[in-house]
Amino acid sequence: MPRRSPIPTASPAPETDAPTPGDSAAPPPDSAPAGLAWRLDIAVQTPAHAALGDLLSYAGAAPLVPGTLVRVPLGRREVLGVVWNEPVSLDGAQPDMALKPVGAALDALAPLGEAWRDLVTFAARYYQRSIGEIALAALPPQLRDLTTTQLARRLKRKTTTGPVAETAEAANLIALSPEQTAALARIEAESGTFLLVGSTGSGKTEVYLRCVADLLARDPGAQALVMVPEINLTPQLEARFKARFGEEAVVSLHSGMTNPQRLASWLAAHSGAARIVLGTRMAVFASIPGLKLIVVDEEHDPSYKQQEGARYSARDLAVWRGQREGAKVILGSATPSLESWHQSRPAEGDDPGGRYVRLEMPSRIGAGELPAVRLVDMNLQPPKTVLSGALLDAIGQRIARGEQSMIFLNRRGYAPVLACGDCGWKSECPHCSAYRVFHKIDRTLRCHHCGFTERVPRACPACGNPDIAPVGRGTERLEEHLAELFAAVKRPDGSAVRIARIDADSTKKQGALESQLAAVHAGEVDVLVGTQMIAKGHDFRRITLVAAVNPDGALFSSDFRAPERLFSLLMQSAGRAGRDAAYLAAQGATAEMWIQTFHSQHPLFMALRKHDYAAFAKQQLDERRAAGMPPFAFQALLRADAREQSVAQAFLNIAADAAEALPGADIVTRYPAVPLSIQRVADVERAQMLIESPSRAALQRLLASWQPLLHELRRTPEGKGVIRWLVDVDPHSI
Ligand code: ADP
Ligand code: ZN
Ligand code: ZN
Repeated sequence: MPRRSPIPTASPAPETDAPTPGDSAAPPPDSAPAGLAWRLDIAVQTPAHAALGDLLSYAGAAPLVPGTLVRVPLGRREVLGVVWNEPVSLDGAQPDMALKPVGAALDALAPLGEAWRDLVTFAARYYQRSIGEIALAALPPQLRDLTTTQLARRLKRKTTTGPVAETAEAANLIALSPEQTAALARIEAESGTFLLVGSTGSGKTEVYLRCVADLLARDPGAQALVMVPEINLTPQLEARFKARFGEEAVVSLHSGMTNPQRLASWLAAHSGAARIVLGTRMAVFASIPGLKLIVVDEEHDPSYKQQEGARYSARDLAVWRGQREGAKVILGSATPSLESWHQSRPAEGDDPGGRYVRLEMPSRIGAGELPAVRLVDMNLQPPKTVLSGALLDAIGQRIARGEQSMIFLNRRGYAPVLACGDCGWKSECPHCSAYRVFHKIDRTLRCHHCGFTERVPRACPACGNPDIAPVGRGTERLEEHLAELFAAVKRPDGSAVRIARIDADSTKKQGALESQLAAVHAGEVDVLVGTQMIAKGHDFRRITLVAAVNPDGALFSSDFRAPERLFSLLMQSAGRAGRDAAYLAAQGATAEMWIQTFHSQHPLFMALRKHDYAAFAKQQLDERRAAGMPPFAFQALLRADAREQSVAQAFLNIAADAAEALPGADIVTRYPAVPLSIQRVADVERAQMLIESPSRAALQRLLASWQPLLHELRRTPEGKGVIRWLVDVDPHSI
């Protein structure tokens, strides 16, 4: 057990020049028990920005090898740590600082490998966090609580896996298309990072499965990591992998699992028993000693970027990890990120080309045509039209033939604002610079930023007018509207039209999403309304029409990535229609994607119409090159939060001045501090500063030397009012 008072704080490892924290530097009475012959530098979870430095030094009786998990005293607690560096002999002498002794080592567990530690170190440096924070966040939470004996027991319980069993499906493999065959051949023959650009339904997943199968058959110790952007896409993929490789071979890692499940998966990956690790962005940090292949499916998806704490990109780390460990990396998408697309450009003239190998699979399997894109010019519709007559006709025809339609609107709730026509009152959130959304189902006004929720007032809170009205439209209201429109319409068997909605509100309960999706798959829904949740990944078989009813907002956003996101979302949505060529043929139907817009001539829609990702990407990249934006420049955001906007901005501006003298400053632009687009959330004012450079190295150099200055600045009077500050490297939205 840890000794109690007086408890000294562990000393920062000498490598870091971080100041010793607190006032507890007095040597403890029992600081140098005999036999503690080794100094161990250990990564522990220190609070963010505690300025404790990266590693803490302890004394140990044995030279524990790097990667060993140990318990160590920290303040008044005992915490989990990872031995990070080679142990240093104390040679009988105690160093200047009194070192606290390490606690028990969890030596039933094989030490974490050097490659894993390198990944963590790289991520910590690159994203400006501490090693301990990244390392400990990467371990399953339950490891922190288990004693050495409990862990040993847990390890014994683990099932032993033999060679991967050939399952029925594996024995009866479908013949690959020529495009799949060609892609697979190049992945087999070459090494490095591949960008697999395949239309929705082109059979990318089948290519991943084959690559994994070939790898596992060839190399009995090899493991593969397969990443998907969202938890709700894991069950489908997990089922496909388990059907192919057997239950035992596959484990999942995502935040929707219980702690014991996560620990079991993690241990199976770490021990090599699991041949395939499947997961969301957190899985990029799993310990996978035999890693030989990484797949990042839907690599463009914003969910790969962690948006709080350590703001890492799991996609980018996967590429780095693949390089470090000599594992092949396959990035797959129908609409790659412009970064990856650019990085896979072929050589041309003086340009040696990008570092990724580009593989294209333009055709849909089973010769399913991509849906015809129909643009509805909303300028020609009567004012206040929600769904144009032509679109309603098209949906009606689907209903009559027993086919399904999907309507996509990226805004949940009934209406984004509730307003009083008499006095101008609007449903503002008292804590945020945003409106509270009207949810009619439970008659609440809910802030989607801070969660503040109230019952809808009976009358205007400002003037008493009883006629307060919803403004705008969310999925709830669209669902209601459709129900009214189709109330009199009958399905082929004479029954009523079935309309369903899938969004974050409809799927809050555990298992709700699965059952709602199952209902769609089973054909129990005629018209499905939903947010981007329904646009991604799902292999719907009977949907022949997809409509986006209000996508214009993103066309003129201040965020330069908004068009890229919109294009991929619309392509993804379109990809839900007509996935089953045989079904289409039997129905005598064609698949259609409808878009209602006030800007039907916009180049984005022109490219979408031809399913021409390449044309869209070229146009966007030309714009970005001319404007010096990513991928032709590298960015970071420095953000500060305070009770007052002026305090947050002042902190950033002083920080920018302080950066003037730092290495790299001359080729790194620091823009003036500005409020975030949603300036206040939960009564906190937020400001940010964009930092940009044509050189990634220069940006990294500057950020690294800036960190200590920022920590210091926080302790000056100017920093007093700052609640928190953070750095976001390669930010997704600015
Ligand atoms: P993607 O991941 O590119 O959207 P999938 O891999 O999910 O596409 O493939 C779409 C559908 O086509 C799936 O139902 C899959 O089983 C099927 N499929 C894939 N490859 C083949 C093939 N070579 N022959 C027949 N069907 C295939
Ligand atoms: Zn009013
Ligand atoms: Zn709020």
